[in-house]
Amino acid sequence: MVTVKIPAPLRSETDDNAEAYPGLEKHLVDDDGDLNRFVNFFKNGTNVRELEGPDTGLDEDDEVLVLPAVAGGDPTNPNHLPNLSQEELRFYGRHLILPQVGREGQQELKSSSAIVVGAGGLGAPTLLYLAAAGVGRIGIVDPDVVNASNLHRQILYDYEDEGRKKVEVAKERLEGLNPHIEIETYDTRLTNDNALAILEDYDVVLDGTDNFPTRYLTNDACVLLDKPNVHASIFRFEGQASVFWADEGPCYRCLYPEPPPPGLVPNCAEGGVLGVLPGTLGVLQATEAVKLLLDEGEPLTGRLVLYNAMEGSFDEVDINADPECPVCGDDPEVTELVDYQAFCGITQEEDESAELTVQQLADRLGEEGLHVLDVREDWERDIVKIDGSEHIPLDDLPDEVSQLPAEKDVVVYCKSGGRSAKATELLRSVGLNAFNLQGGTDAWVQQIATDKQAY
Ligand SMILES: [Zn+2]
Repeated sequence: MVTVKIPAPLRSETDDNAEAYPGLEKHLVDDDGDLNRFVNFFKNGTNVRELEGPDTGLDEDDEVLVLPAVAGGDPTNPNHLPNLSQEELRFYGRHLILPQVGREGQQELKSSSAIVVGAGGLGAPTLLYLAAAGVGRIGIVDPDVVNASNLHRQILYDYEDEGRKKVEVAKERLEGLNPHIEIETYDTRLTNDNALAILEDYDVVLDGTDNFPTRYLTNDACVLLDKPNVHASIFRFEGQASVFWADEGPCYRCLYPEPPPPGLVPNCAEGGVLGVLPGTLGVLQATEAVKLLLDEGEPLTGRLVLYNAMEGSFDEVDINADPECPVCGDDPEVTELVDYQAFCGITQEEDESAELTVQQLADRLGEEGLHVLDVREDWERDIVKIDGSEHIPLDDLPDEVSQLPAEKDVVVYCKSGGRSAKATELLRSVGLNAFNLQGGTDAWVQQIATDKQAY
């Protein structure tokens, strides 16, 4: 039997039909039956053009190789990227006409993946745009539930979602927006035990965290995994954004080798944030991620963008990789993930000695030797307070500290425990027996006064 070898570009004409290959003929011969000039036929290694052309005879053991001209790659599937359905072509129409995206770019996005750490103020707009842009697989890491106080900036969620898991609501919303992509959820805090395993599966990491331990953890994991870390952070009316990628430029630790001591920089729950601000920064993050995945444009590697919402101004500073950087430098000290709570100065021992849980306070409430102090603002007290507590806002405390009972245990509370930690430190520094209420009114409302409102 004669053996005929058909190369890959023509195999689509033969795969489903073992007997006769009607589609193959047009590739091989023209209407007159002459051999096409863009195909070569070899008989036992010799081009038939050097033999007798189409009249070359074949014997039982001969081998024929068909060799068509190819443009490079597979014309039906460039670079082996996933195809786009008719529905997807309709969905991404405005991308497809952009030369920088086009059909192939859209296929690139479909074959790519991104993970967002934190589905909060930054994560919400970021996730919506990544999904809308057609990033094929999107991961979301967040352990929290939706709270009414999130909604002024976390636009993924509705009022009626209060109390539901953020990752669950986010998945539903994003799948509703774009059914052509996959959403994977991680209902957990990112920790040094799970970070590498979770982030490893994605092309780009987006840092939407609201605390220093998770931010350093995300950075270090990205350096160890050699992933780009699209960063943004926000406070009140200002934000910062960059792309940290040790392969191409600095990492977060090159810019900030150490975190500020606990309590020095308030978080958004303590310091407040303009609701639209994370929208601006989150959209910058999504833009950078899409650029990286398309490999188009100038990424923000080595540049830190500073946005001031009140001034309506953008500034930019150049940042450089630090050869002394403890994680991405020439001689790194950090070669595996560490305890980021401890790294950020949050030590359990210290906490416990000067803290009280809401349950401990509930058990002791009304005791003669106990004095409860609220260091929040008036408007917060109007929403919820612990009955019988005295009110001195944190700013007034240094002047009022002498009024507090030296013979009693003073339990200090605020909304989530940040301001009250500072107040506790101040009271202890003047010799008072002060304790910080862990979790503040948020924990109080969640566990004790469940009929009251959090904010
Ligand atoms: Zn670094």
